[in-house]
Amino acid sequence: MEIRYHSTRSEGETMTASQAILKGLADDGGLFVPTAIPEFDFDLSKLPEMSYQETAYEVMKLFLSDFTEDELKHCINSAYDKKFDTDVIAPLVEKDGANYLELFHGKTIAFKDMALSILPYLMTTSAKKNGVKNEIVILTATSGDTGKAALAGFADVEGTSIIVFYPKDGVSPIQKQQMVTEPGKNTFVVGINGNFDDAQTGVKNIFADKELAKEMDAKGYQFSSANSINIGRLVPQIVYYVYAYGQLMKQGKIKAGDEINVVVPTGNFGNILASYYAKNMGLPIRKLVCASNENKVLYDFFDNGTYDRKREFILTSSPSMDILISSNLERLIYRITGDDTAKTKEFMENLANKGEYTITEEMRAKLTDFAGGFATEEQTAEEIAKVYNDTGYVLDPHTAVASYVRRSVLGDGEIPAVVASTASPYKFTRSVMLAIDKDKYDSMEDFALVDELLELSGVKIPYAVESIRTAPVLHKTICEKDEMTDVVKKRLGF
Ligand SMILES: *Cc1c(COP(=O)(O)O)cnc(C)c1O
Repeated sequence: MEIRYHSTRSEGETMTASQAILKGLADDGGLFVPTAIPEFDFDLSKLPEMSYQETAYEVMKLFLSDFTEDELKHCINSAYDKKFDTDVIAPLVEKDGANYLELFHGKTIAFKDMALSILPYLMTTSAKKNGVKNEIVILTATSGDTGKAALAGFADVEGTSIIVFYPKDGVSPIQKQQMVTEPGKNTFVVGINGNFDDAQTGVKNIFADKELAKEMDAKGYQFSSANSINIGRLVPQIVYYVYAYGQLMKQGKIKAGDEINVVVPTGNFGNILASYYAKNMGLPIRKLVCASNENKVLYDFFDNGTYDRKREFILTSSPSMDILISSNLERLIYRITGDDTAKTKEFMENLANKGEYTITEEMRAKLTDFAGGFATEEQTAEEIAKVYNDTGYVLDPHTAVASYVRRSVLGDGEIPAVVASTASPYKFTRSVMLAIDKDKYDSMEDFALVDELLELSGVKIPYAVESIRTAPVLHKTICEKDEMTDVVKKRLGF
């Protein structure tokens, strides 16, 4: 079956996967969605014997219809190689009643690497397939982890350059250090005086600027996106849920066809949407549990059917989930309207203009696959301490939010729960160590805490952290949120 793509906000003409990857965001501001969610064309019983790369091929080929087998395998094998510090790419580790799916073994030790190590290959392959001569300028807003993962993925990739905007005071010290020390020659990193939503809105506005697009084209540039709105990020994220299912079979915990639960620490709704797509493809998932931190706009949405972003933005110890406008939710809204682009558009306009929308009862009835939960800052810290004290395993704060929510929503549960483990604790060392022993660690420097974490967990310090200890700061630009367009133009020499 050939899968094509169109906007969530208008049917219009459909396009191929490679064209959708190149464009990133649809012209009308909507997100690209597949004309149908394909079903698995292989038997689940084969999964335990399949490598991560083989699983990736079987899943991704169903969505990326216009990629040849050679093209797709080249992308997969180039992405999931020795950049990951484990051959299995995404290990599934059982601790304290949960199956933690460790998605942080890539270059920048966050789950964003799972998709961003393959996106540059998908993008350059797409450019070649479509005869694109322009340089592709990747424009990205980050709540901390996407930025570095995208920089690492696109650094020095021929035919591309990348500009990353991050909230100046909204990322962890290690996240910031990772970004501002990025050495890639085609990279540019800018802090903004604003929060993640400001950065994301600014980037969306630049994408929607038709005049600018024309100017760009005349100068031999075109924009694309590395944010999770790009279908080229969503599709690779489906893979690890399928892989985790195979690992549970391999570990003898389930048989083909048995149901599992999935718990995902959620911000922009990309990761959990991937698990929803996996379920729609035929993966036996009973509940998709959406875990939020104190910015619990999604929890409230699942609870009462109203998405209301008009609330205080809270900076938490899980900054990659500090988001009030979860972009990828638009793709779920589209599905539960019964693939109705006009209705989806109306909801999104209400969100933009009034700051909220309420879905219909009929739509709510289609959300029974989902459950919501949230953890306060205190509960998150307690969860880190509890799991460490019980098992010696150290969670990062994002994973801890999900781990707490697993306990509170699913209890002991009679079927296995997979908890998406989205970052290495080394990325959020300060929050993690203070959760374990505040009195002891409060006065120590960040990198001293890294050494303490090694001592306490026995987990090797990742190269991603080791390498930035002494690296020079190369990116110092800071701007106001309404100056983002000018900063981009200046960078590109307009
Ligand atoms: C990005 C991120 C999340 C949130 O994922 P979404 O796909 O935006 O919902 C959670 N944890 C970590 C560590 C992240 O980097």
